[in-house]
Parts: sequence; C-alpha cells; structure tokens
Amino acid sequence: MFKELIFKSIIKTLNKYNNVVIVSHANPDGDAMGSSLALYLFAKKIGCNANVIIPNDYPMFLSWMPNIDDVIIFDKNTDKALTIMSEADLFCFLDFNTPSRTGVMHNELCRYNKIPHILIDHHLGADESAFEACLSETEISSTSELVAQLINNQGFDNYLDKDIATNLLVGIITDTGSFAHSVFDSTFDICAKLLSTSINYKEIHQNIYDTSSENRLRLLGYLINDRMTILNEYNTAYIYASKSDLESYNYQVGDTEGVVNYPLSINSIRMSVLITERQGVIRLSFRSKGDFSVNDLARKHFNGGGHLNAAGGTLTCSLEQAIQKLIDILPEYKDLLNK
Ligand code: 5GP
Ligand code: MN
Repeated sequence: MFKELIFKSIIKTLNKYNNVVIVSHANPDGDAMGSSLALYLFAKKIGCNANVIIPNDYPMFLSWMPNIDDVIIFDKNTDKALTIMSEADLFCFLDFNTPSRTGVMHNELCRYNKIPHILIDHHLGADESAFEACLSETEISSTSELVAQLINNQGFDNYLDKDIATNLLVGIITDTGSFAHSVFDSTFDICAKLLSTSINYKEIHQNIYDTSSENRLRLLGYLINDRMTILNEYNTAYIYASKSDLESYNYQVGDTEGVVNYPLSINSIRMSVLITERQGVIRLSFRSKGDFSVNDLARKHFNGGGHLNAAGGTLTCSLEQAIQKLIDILPEYKDLLNK
C-alpha cells in the first residue's frame, strides 16, 4: 500500500477508537521511548484516551524525556497495566514486530489478539496481515522518524510541539548513534522540521550523552580493558559483562548501552558482540560494519534479530556457554567476515 494511504489509515484508526494502549519492546531504548511518548502525546491531542505500557524499565539516561513519568512499567506496576490493557480498544505496537520482544507482557498481550492492532516499526520481517494498519519500513532511521512523518504529513504539523518534537528527536538521535548510521535524506528532512519547533538541540544531545555516572564511565573502561577479546581470524571482537562485573560498578539500567559500538572503531573489526549476564538470561548485542548481516546471524543462532548492522538476541545458558556458542558459529561466517 502507498505510504500516504497507510498514514491515512492509521489516523483513521486512531480516530475510530478511544482507549488506545501503546506498547513497546522489552529493554526499551531511546527510539522505543521517543516514538511511544510522541504517539501518546499526539493521540491525546486528537482526543484519544491513550496510555503507554512498556515491559520493563527504561535507561536512566532517558528519565528526563517529556512525559516519561506517564509511562506504565508492566513489571513494576502490573495491576495498573492489566486494568488498562483490559479496557483497551486499540493496541499500537511500536519499534518491534516480533511479539516475543514484549518480554514479560507477551503472554498477557496474546489474550488481546482479537482487539485491533496498529504496527509502526522499522525492523525486518513484519507480518502486515496481523494489523488493522501497518507502517513498516526498513529504509528509515527509526520508528520515531515514522511517527514524525505520520504527524507531519497528515496536516497535523501544528501538533508538533516542543515535547513531541523532543521525544521524536531522542529516538532519531539514539537509533542513528548521533547521525552516524541509518541516516537517510528523509531523516535530515524531518529533523529540520523538528528543529523548527522551539527545541534546544544541544540540550537534548547533552541530556542523552553527557549525564553518565562516574561508575558508568569506569564500567566502560573496565569492559574494554579487561573483558574484550579480539578474534583477528574473524575480524570480530566480543566483550562480556558478568553479573558480578555489573554489580561491582553499581549497574543501573542502560549503563551498557553503546558499549558494543566501541570495538568497531578498530579498523579491521567487522563485527562486535556484547554478551551480558542478566537475570536468568544472557543478552547479546551485535553490531557490524559494511554488508555483514548481524540480523541473519542473530536470527539463526541467538533467538533474535534486528537490522543489517545492529541486532540483538537472548540465550538461556551460562555466560561461558554463550561465549562458546559465539566462538563455535564463527567459522560459518569466516568468508563473509573477511570479505
Ligand atoms: P540492541 O543491541 O541495542 O539491544 O539492539 C539492536 C537492534 O536489534 C535494535 O534495533 C533492536 O530492536 C533489535 N533487537 C534487539 N534484541 C532483539 C531480539 O531479541 N529480537 C529481535 N527480533 N530484535 C532485537
Ligand atoms: Mn528503533
């Protein structure tokens, strides 16, 4: 369907229903939060009774985002979340397309499969048929960019106020690594529009990147110095962080965000992996340079997915076993990693 028609059908769907529940993925990042909060503020402006529910907590460095205190965190405020979900007449899924990415909310959400759903997302592999309206595009910076286009292109540009624009810009800045990758002509076009509201770009950037604790920076130094292995044969680097590593630096949610990018600054490195021991599971983050697809690798071996150059996954095993699994599968990718 033409994008214009999809925009129209999303607006029409939002207008048709009253109790709108916006849901994003577990371990939400800047784009999950920014796109959800912007759509939430917009939906309220057009008369919906909207709520945002996320599976678990957001990173500390996003806690300043406009209206973030309105967000309901499912694993902290389960009763409230369940009540709101039971009253929903429309669900909007933002920044994910694999239902299991809603983590602790997944089982509960399955009970509402018959309620209409909207999808707005920029990951590969969306099942468009499952949605009343589906805005799924991969050649775009972020879900926030899609939400910005939705608002801007449908005659609602006067609704793009400072709070909505700030939330959207957070999503675009974080998902592009400060405009380092996944940037398209359309990204700069929409950012120019967002900047034309009275937002303070410098302040937003500083709020995201210059508010770390001392512990967070020292954890980064420790992980690079003591926990990084370079596998030259595969042009690959991996970093691991055990539970006790994180505890000794008083880990706060979001503290390892961005760590996976650092090994890519080495000229020869094509793929970087961060393996983190979390409560009961091992989380893996993958990044690559060029056309090596970490999405394929994460899908095939790590129950995950994402994009060509940025993906994630999970394993339920020990940290040692997860590292071994990565090492074991690398020969399969040797040629691609040496191209
Ligand atoms: P991160 O490494 O920052 O957690 O995730 C990188 C990218 O991969 C993000 O776009 C994220 O949405 C996607 N991603 C992360 N974890 C998963 C996962 O478990 N499954 C899928 N399908 N995508 C993931
Ligand atoms: Mn995203």
